[in-house]
Amino acid sequence: MGVVHVSNPATGEIIHSLQTSTKEEVTAKVDKAQLAFPSWKALTAYDRSKLLIAWAAMIRENRQELGELITLENGKPLAEALGEVDYAVSYIDWYAEEAKRIYGRTIPTHVPNKRLSVTRQPIGVVAAITPWNFPAAMMTRKAAPALAAGCTFIVKPAEETPLTTIRLIELAHRAGIPEDAVQYVLADAPMVGEIFTSHKAVRKITFTGSTAVGKLLLSQCAQTVKHATMELGGHAPIIVAEDANIAVAVEQTIIAKYRNAGQTCVSPNRLIVHENIADVFTDALVAKVKELKVGNGMEADVNVGPVINRKGFDKIQDQIQDALSKGADAAVGGGHNVDEEQGFYFVEPTVLTNVSADAKIMTEETFGPVIPIVTFKELDEAIAIANDSLYGLATYFFTESYKTGTYLSENLDYGIVGWNDGIISAAHAPFGGMKESGMGREGGTEGIEPYLETKYVSMSL
Ligand code: ADP
Repeated sequence: MGVVHVSNPATGEIIHSLQTSTKEEVTAKVDKAQLAFPSWKALTAYDRSKLLIAWAAMIRENRQELGELITLENGKPLAEALGEVDYAVSYIDWYAEEAKRIYGRTIPTHVPNKRLSVTRQPIGVVAAITPWNFPAAMMTRKAAPALAAGCTFIVKPAEETPLTTIRLIELAHRAGIPEDAVQYVLADAPMVGEIFTSHKAVRKITFTGSTAVGKLLLSQCAQTVKHATMELGGHAPIIVAEDANIAVAVEQTIIAKYRNAGQTCVSPNRLIVHENIADVFTDALVAKVKELKVGNGMEADVNVGPVINRKGFDKIQDQIQDALSKGADAAVGGGHNVDEEQGFYFVEPTVLTNVSADAKIMTEETFGPVIPIVTFKELDEAIAIANDSLYGLATYFFTESYKTGTYLSENLDYGIVGWNDGIISAAHAPFGGMKESGMGREGGTEGIEPYLETKYVSMSL
């Protein structure tokens, strides 16, 4: 048995220490989820829906406390954390309704005395592994559709941010969802991954995190042919066309890029700007970036909090130094404020220009408040740069022309497209990536599908 120390990334202070579970304890929890499955599945969709609505109400009642908890363990500014609570609840709202719309169908028969029908049933026990960047929303985005579909659910939150998940699950139980229908485990991550992927009762793994861990889990899922939804890394390009509304492009870039200190999988990682407007755009962007205030997310006027930990900080600094050593200029930022002794890590919001194509930041996910700018002449050149990535999660572009916009949205190999829009996530829309950004979608009508099995009944009269 070990201990997880949860620390505040803005101060380095340990805010809570939690015991981790042993292998036997984790397995016992999965067994409980298995035992709870038949009775949870047997509830009508209307009863499951009511329990989800009660859970959402509990979260709303505790909005402020949950928001503060997110800021304490994740570091994001409180206004963003409260926004995350609302966003997290919106998944429960949406899937409480979708529970009632899990329809089957009948198929015209080919033989007079046969009747063919298709029903949908819950897939079974669902095991989830979630990241630290949205500790509330990444959990509800998985738990809400799973529970709505009639699956029981067990989640391993990230070690950095388990407190939000624990609180959300307490509230679910208080709302009347049975204890074993929704559970969490806190234990060594590779061990939990092994147990989740090898336990025969688990029929579905849903993971949000790095592509490397996603690939590992996928290979482990093969042993027992588990279904898997993978929300993995990204390297989102933003194309700013010659006819873009520059004020809109700058405003939306700031929101998309510097939210959560750049630590989102849909965070823009490259700006690809038409050469004729590159100077005007860069000057306008730099002016706005200079206005961003970095600091402790609990302070009212802070826009950018600390990054999560040393590992994340080092990777960002390495990418900045690498780009600078290959000829880039820091149009703004490039610095940091790190206190190694106390262990908190702030990165200055940064814009890099004259970035060489072989700089790491042009291909590696940054997960920090830094963005490089490159330029293009022809639209096809911009598309080629944008698509030259292992990832395919989100992309953004800015243009006032419907022809340019339609051409871009049809030719960019990304699962999510923001057209003059930097905020693309919504519970009622499908979120997910192409290529090594993952498989499957969360949110929208698509988001409940992964938790359902299809059963075909051929009845002979
Ligand atoms: P990051 O580097 O951003 O933390 P990870 O992919 O490592 O991204 O983490 C996302 C989630 O995956 C976390 O909950 C983490 O504990 C978990 N995780 C990390 N390694 C493994 C593993 N080998 N097996 C299962 N889960 C893992």
